[in-house]
Amino acid sequence: MKPIFVAIFMFFLGFANSDAIFAQTSEPDLETVQLRLQWKHQFEFAGFYAAKEKGFYREAGLDVDILEFDGGVETVGEVLAAEGRYAVGYSSLVNDYLSGKPVVLLANILKRSPVAIVAQPQIRSPRDLVGKRVMGVAETISTLALSMMLERFGVPFDTIQLVPPTYRVDEFVRGDVDAMVVFTSNEIFDLDRAGKRYTLLNPSVYGAEYYDVNLFTSRKELDHHFSRAQRFRQASLRGWEYALQNESEIIELILNKYNSQHKSRESLLFEAAQIRSAMMPKVHPIGSFTEQRLQMIAGDLVQLGRVPADTPLNFESFIFQEPRQELKLTERERRYLAERKSITYCADPDWMPFEKIENGVHKGMSAEFFKLFEQKLNIPLKLTPTRSWSESLTFAKQRHCDLFSLAMPTPERQVYMNFTPPYIRYPLVIATRSDTMFILELESVMDRPLGIVRGYAFVELLKRKYPGINLVEVETLADGLEMVANGELFGFIDSLGAAGYQIQRRHIGELKIAGKFDENWELGIGVRNDDPILLGILSKVVATITPDERRDIESHWFSISYQQGLDYRLFMQIMAVALAIGLMLLYHLFTQRSAMRKLRAAHAEVREKSKELESLSITDKLTGLNNRLKLDEDLGRYADHFSRYGNIYSVMLLDIDYFKKVNDVFGHMEGDRVLKDAASLLTHCLRKSDIIGRWGGEEFLIICPGTALNECMSLAEKLRQRFQQHDFGLGAPQSISLGVAQCEQGVGSDDLLSAADAALYRAKQGGRNRACAASVSL
Ligand code: GH3
Ligand code: MG
Ligand code: MG
Repeated sequence: MKPIFVAIFMFFLGFANSDAIFAQTSEPDLETVQLRLQWKHQFEFAGFYAAKEKGFYREAGLDVDILEFDGGVETVGEVLAAEGRYAVGYSSLVNDYLSGKPVVLLANILKRSPVAIVAQPQIRSPRDLVGKRVMGVAETISTLALSMMLERFGVPFDTIQLVPPTYRVDEFVRGDVDAMVVFTSNEIFDLDRAGKRYTLLNPSVYGAEYYDVNLFTSRKELDHHFSRAQRFRQASLRGWEYALQNESEIIELILNKYNSQHKSRESLLFEAAQIRSAMMPKVHPIGSFTEQRLQMIAGDLVQLGRVPADTPLNFESFIFQEPRQELKLTERERRYLAERKSITYCADPDWMPFEKIENGVHKGMSAEFFKLFEQKLNIPLKLTPTRSWSESLTFAKQRHCDLFSLAMPTPERQVYMNFTPPYIRYPLVIATRSDTMFILELESVMDRPLGIVRGYAFVELLKRKYPGINLVEVETLADGLEMVANGELFGFIDSLGAAGYQIQRRHIGELKIAGKFDENWELGIGVRNDDPILLGILSKVVATITPDERRDIESHWFSISYQQGLDYRLFMQIMAVALAIGLMLLYHLFTQRSAMRKLRAAHAEVREKSKELESLSITDKLTGLNNRLKLDEDLGRYADHFSRYGNIYSVMLLDIDYFKKVNDVFGHMEGDRVLKDAASLLTHCLRKSDIIGRWGGEEFLIICPGTALNECMSLAEKLRQRFQQHDFGLGAPQSISLGVAQCEQGVGSDDLLSAADAALYRAKQGGRNRACAASVSL
C-alpha cells in the first residue's frame, strides 16, 4: 500500500493517536526502568527503540534506559539484583529458570535464533567440524541452538579446537580459522560483500529452532510492580509492531541515535529482513510464546545434560500472564444468576471458523468465547442444537433458547431479541470465480444473482440498502460456494473469515474473494428481549474480554486453520488492502488517473495475498504429513541453500510395494488406515532434522539435510527393515522400495527428483523391497 493510504487507513481505524502531539509536552512523573540488551545496538532490538522514541513507554508512565550488552556484566544476575530491571536474552533463559533462578518470561521476539556457523567451503556438514579450528563457540554455546546442532551431528565440544572470538570476519576470510560463529542477521552481510565463499551451517535448517530475544524480568519485579511490568511489556510489543510497519524510519533512527557499531544503512536493511523473517509475524502474534515450545527447549536441555533429567519441567512461575478483567455484577444480577440453573442458546450449525455444531457439540471461535463466559459467570451455558441457522432463528422466536451465541442485530430480529456489543468483527465480502474481475463498485453487480445464507442478518440489511439487489437465499455457505463454482450464481456474500475458510478448504484456485462491502459483521450475543437483566449481565461479560484472551482464541483458530490452509493475519491484511481499495475509490473522485494506477497496484496486492493464502495449505489431510506443495517449497529452499551456502542434502522417494493389492483385498478404507500407519512409522524412524511429506498416493518424499548419499542409503535400508518388521494388521509384511539421490552443483530440484525417481524405478525393476542410489553423476 502507498504511504498516503496507509495513513488514511490508520486514521480511519482510529490508530492515528496523539503521540506526535503529546510526545514532546511536559514530562509527567515517570518511573525509571532499565532494559539490558543481549548484544550491541542493532535492528535486532528495533521495537524497543521504537517504543522509546515514539513515546510508547512515556505514555505507559515509563522512562526506559536502554543499555547495550556488556561483556563484563552477567545479565541474569544484574536483573535479579534489583527491581525495575528488564533484559532480553537467549533461550538459555529456560536453563536459568530450571536451575532455580527467579526469572519471568514476559514476551518472545524471535521465533528462531539467528546464531549459526560459517565454515570454509570444503566443510559440508556440521559433522565435518570435528578437529577443526572454530572461532567463538565457547562464548556462544549457551545459545543452545548451536549445541543442539553439534550434538545431533555427533560433534562434542572437546573434538573442536576452540578459538576465542574477535567479533570480526577477517580471520575467517584470511583462512586462519576453519569456521566461526555468526549471526545470520549480521556477519553474513560482511562475508557476502567481501565476496568470501563459505558453507553456512544453520541450526534452524537442521531442526534446532529456539526462541531468541526473550524479554524477561525478575519474579520480585513482577510481584512488587506488576502493573509496571505489564505496561513495559505492552509498550514494548507496541514498539515492535510499529518497527515492523515503519522499517525505514526505525533504520534511520538507529543510524542517527543507536549506531554504536557503525553499521551501514545497507547492512541494517539486510539485518531487518533477517529479523523480520525470524519473527514470523504472519504466523505468530508478536511477543507470543507457547508452553509447548518451552517444554521442547527444556527437553533438549535435558538431552544435552544441562538440566538433570529429574528436574520438574513446570513453567507456571516462569510464564507471565495478563490478569483477567474483573466482572463486576450488581447484587440483583448475582441473585439472578444464582436462581437460574442454566442458560440455553442457539448457534449457527455451519459457519466456521466462527462456529458450527458437530455431533451436537458447539465448536469454533464463539464456542471458545462461550467457555470463557461460562467460567466468568459460573453458570452453564447450554446449546440447543439445530440443523440450520434459519431453524435457530425459529427456535429463538419460540423461546426454545435464551440466546444466540453470535449474531448481528437487525430490525426484524430486534422484535424478539436484544444484542450485546459485538465481540467478533469481520468484514463482509463477496466471493466469485477466480476468473472474474475484482469488483470495485458493488452497484455494478447488484443485478447479478448473489447467494447468501437464508436468514442471515445481511439479507435484511442489504435489501434495505440496495433495493435492486438480486439475492438468492441458500441453506449453507458450502452449498452457495458450490453454486458459484458451477456458474449458477455470480457471487456469494459472507464474512471474510467464513468465506475464506471454505474457499481454502474446498475451492482453492477456483474461487476468490473479489470485493468487499462497507459493512462489517459486528457480532454480539443475542438475548431474548423479555429479559433485560440477562442482557445487562452478558454485556458486562463481553466487556471483560482482555486483548490476551482475544489473541489466544483467535490464534488458536488461526493455528488450526493454518494446517487446513487459512491464515487469519493474512486475512486481516487482505481486509486492510480491501479497505484501502474503498478509500481509493474516494480518492478516485478527485484524481482519476493516478487512482486507477493505484487501484491496479492494490489489485495486484490482493491477488498476491490470495496466492500466499493458497500456499499456506501445507498439510496432507489423510496422513497429517507435509503435502506436495510444502515439499516443493522445501526442495526449492534446500536447493537454494546448497547453491548459495553449500549445505548438502539428499532426497529419498519411497513407494509402498503392491499397494493396489491392499486396496483390492481389504478395501480402500483399510488402505487409508495403512497409509496413516505407514506415515507415523516413518516419522518415528527419522531424525528431527529430516523432512517428510506425502508425495502422492502411496509415495513419500524424505529430505535429509546435511546428509550425503551413503548415509542416506543407510537410512533407506533402516526404513526398509522397519517396514518389514512392522505389523500393519494385514496378516503379511509390507515392503517398500526406495530411490535415493544427493544434491549436486548445478542440478536443480526437478532433476534431483528425476534422479531419485529413476533410482526408485530400478529398485522396482530389481524385484522391489530394496533401496537404490542414483548414479553419482546425474
Ligand atoms: P508397485 O508400486 O509395487 O509397482 O505396485 P502398486 O500396487 O503400489 O502400484 P502403483 O504405485 O501404481 O499404485 C498405487 C496404488 O495406491 C493405486 C491406488 O489404488 C493406491 N492409492 C493411492 N492413493 C491412495 C489413497 O489415498 N488411499 C488408498 N487406500 N489407496 C491409495
Ligand atoms: Mg506408486
Ligand atoms: Mg506402489
